[in-house]
Amino acid sequence: MTTAQAWTPDRLSALRQRYRTERDRRVRPDGADQYRDAETEFGYYAADPYVAEPITRDPLHDTVDVAVVGGGFGGLLAGARIRQRGSHRVRIIDKGGDFGGTWYWNRYPGVHCDIESHVYLPMLDETGYVPEWKYSPGEEIRQHAVRMAERFDLYADALFSTAVTALDWDEDAQAWLVTTHRGDAFHAVYVVTATGTLSDPKLPGIPGIETFRGHTFHTSRWDYGYTGGTQFGGMTGLADKRVGVIGTGATGVQVVPMLAEDARQLYVFQRTPSSVDVRGNRRTSARDVGADHDGWARERRENFLRIVSGEHADTDLVADRWTSSAALLEKLLPSFRRDSAATDFESAYEAADAAKMDELRTRVEQTVLDRHTAEKLKPWYRYACKRPTFSDKYYAAFNRPNVTLVDTADTHGIERVTEHGVVVGDTAYELDCLIFATGFSVGVSGILAGKIPVRGRGGIELEQAREDHGARSLHGFTSNGFPNLIQMGTLHNASSVNYTHILDEQATHAAALVEAAEATHAVIEPSTELEDAWLAVLAEGAPDHEWFHAECTPGYYNREGRGRPNTRSSYPHGAVAFHEHLRRWRAESIGEVLRPRVTG
Ligand code: NDP
Repeated sequence: MTTAQAWTPDRLSALRQRYRTERDRRVRPDGADQYRDAETEFGYYAADPYVAEPITRDPLHDTVDVAVVGGGFGGLLAGARIRQRGSHRVRIIDKGGDFGGTWYWNRYPGVHCDIESHVYLPMLDETGYVPEWKYSPGEEIRQHAVRMAERFDLYADALFSTAVTALDWDEDAQAWLVTTHRGDAFHAVYVVTATGTLSDPKLPGIPGIETFRGHTFHTSRWDYGYTGGTQFGGMTGLADKRVGVIGTGATGVQVVPMLAEDARQLYVFQRTPSSVDVRGNRRTSARDVGADHDGWARERRENFLRIVSGEHADTDLVADRWTSSAALLEKLLPSFRRDSAATDFESAYEAADAAKMDELRTRVEQTVLDRHTAEKLKPWYRYACKRPTFSDKYYAAFNRPNVTLVDTADTHGIERVTEHGVVVGDTAYELDCLIFATGFSVGVSGILAGKIPVRGRGGIELEQAREDHGARSLHGFTSNGFPNLIQMGTLHNASSVNYTHILDEQATHAAALVEAAEATHAVIEPSTELEDAWLAVLAEGAPDHEWFHAECTPGYYNREGRGRPNTRSSYPHGAVAFHEHLRRWRAESIGEVLRPRVTG
């Protein structure tokens, strides 16, 4: 392994130049417009393959205490934390046929948790469950979602295969009117939105997709009826098939080794290689993870959050490639910055980054036998420009005689799809099956980007209000003009690689708000002064990541090469401090968002 000291200024300068060249040849003028949503003529790609029979039921016109939009871990946590604090009637609504959110949809072969299961799976302390693997298979995670729903009795009022179409504040009822595509129009005193950030599958806008006459689907809608097998392999239906997979992100890296084993021929169409670090999955016992006392899972995930947030921790309980790469994760973390004189910061960071990426490129060389293929698989960008991935099988798959890597960087991706397959440059690849591992639209689900219209007091539209005045909130959860609406998500809030931890803190906060409002017969609504004060906090010394994203290879982290939106949108002092801030605020100041209900 190369040491950080070996990175002289000249070498770093040459590396920087190489990164820029690789980035520049990938940036497309159409940016995020290059993608298509899986709707209208491509709606087939978003249809639910997992519901055995279409759901039929009469529309609902009743009243519940809380409606939660979204039945993934965010919605489940909100429902569970609210029920822990009172016997409220909670109705969770989801487009999928069951709970699980991303784990309901993503059942592709090889799907696994990328974060250690013992910190990723929520409510292990409360449910008594201890995951069996360091990185759980998707099915274990999906079943844990079901376990949480059963444990907190969330099935009773749940609505599945149902899309919320609008949320309207009804001043007379002092409640929200929730309408859905199934004709439901029911009231909920409180609404929690937990619609996720990466939930709508997207397709590349490659000309001719609709002309392909073989079989095709998106990885988040895996067609086991066609492939045979399960998440664990055995796809006998592919034994005589030529399969193409487009995309080599976190999904592609997990699915490729499985397809390689079962397909007659596999073509992996790559535009930008992922960085693929050591996985090291293994069976774990309760003893290994210290699951021998109350609160063990909370302690473990707090420890993980501290480390990946650059805060001090006496010990590293998870000890994996996320924690060992922590200093490179948030470009760079407060601890890294605190230890570095301003002038030394860049070179210290760059040297550490160069060493890490060199280690990952060396990993390719050491595994992939064909030199040309190995060169194409090497990632030439800084760590975490793209979502880091982990696998001990991905690179080895390219040593199989039935697997071909097709690099499409020079043509900005695949040029066209025909009736028979895929065209890249001068070569046509004939395929029986074309699989899109092309990811998800970013930031457009639920009430984001107005997909679900939200009309608050006096009919004021949330989306319009944001367009007119910018996003306004207190802590990201509540906004003036939108009583009893609690939003979960990253806006004005915190984020972390272990996103379920963030969601749990948000759910705890949502439950406390509901409990306080119920106890005082109040509605939850911050004043504009509170919002102004929160916006001022957000503007305080937020780390400037623009320079990092501006130099990164394009992807959804940097709006396809255009840098981050030029707005401050997260709490500037990190997730650990944010959670402390919320705890203190709940203890001392929660009353400031409560105002009397209007009656009569
Ligand atoms: P991504 O958006 O990360 O990857 C999409 C892939 O499709 C990229 O390789 C992209 O290339 C490629 N692509 C897009 N358009 C074209 C084109 N025209 N021609 C060729 N290739 C194209 O989606 P994923 O589903 O892989 O991952 C999304 C997110 O979901 C992850 O970042 C992660 O947050 C999460 N995830 C988590 C997992 C876990 O924890 N277990 C597992 C899987 C996903 P390019 O890079 O050049 O744009």
